[in-house]
Amino acid sequence: MPEFDRHVLETLREPLEAGAITISRAAWQTDFPAACQLVAAMNPCPCGWRGDPSGRCRCTPEGAARYLRKLSGPLLDRIDIQIEIPALPPAELAARAHSPAEPSAAIAARVHAARERQLSRQGKTNRELSGRDTDEVCRPDAAGETLLREAGERFGWSARAYYRVLKVARTIADLADADMPAAAHVAEAIQYRRVFTDH
Ligand SMILES: [Zn+2]
Repeated sequence: MPEFDRHVLETLREPLEAGAITISRAAWQTDFPAACQLVAAMNPCPCGWRGDPSGRCRCTPEGAARYLRKLSGPLLDRIDIQIEIPALPPAELAARAHSPAEPSAAIAARVHAARERQLSRQGKTNRELSGRDTDEVCRPDAAGETLLREAGERFGWSARAYYRVLKVARTIADLADADMPAAAHVAEAIQYRRVFTDH
């Protein structure tokens, strides 16, 4: 992702927020639908080895920081799930080949059920909830609420980031077929927004 110009990356903010893009030229302006699911990947530094136990990274701290700064705070605010995936040692990779993962069909059935749950509760998916709707249908239980408030203060979340974590927690609760997001669902949602706050 940071291989793109910062200006290009910033243009993603509009479709990620509004689900549409507005193209303006001198004489006319048109809106195009652009609701999308953005899936993006990046390296931790220009060479890709930062943090690897082999010590192979030759980037300066300043070079690595400049690379990460390509992604602005407002852009990251709009990306719901941000996770770090460390490289697996070869032995672990080989071991995984012998223990098959859960089949995609089983996961798809669970996703379908969670989606149906959202549509029957509120007539739209969690992603489409407005701020006010979110307050109404995503409110966690008391323990979850405390956890969320503390994390928001500790990590300095914007209001936008806060609401997005709340929606992710609601979705995790939907996947678990739970009526209300509980502390465990909120904690999982918080974990998905830790990468850029820990560095
Ligand atoms: Zn490096």
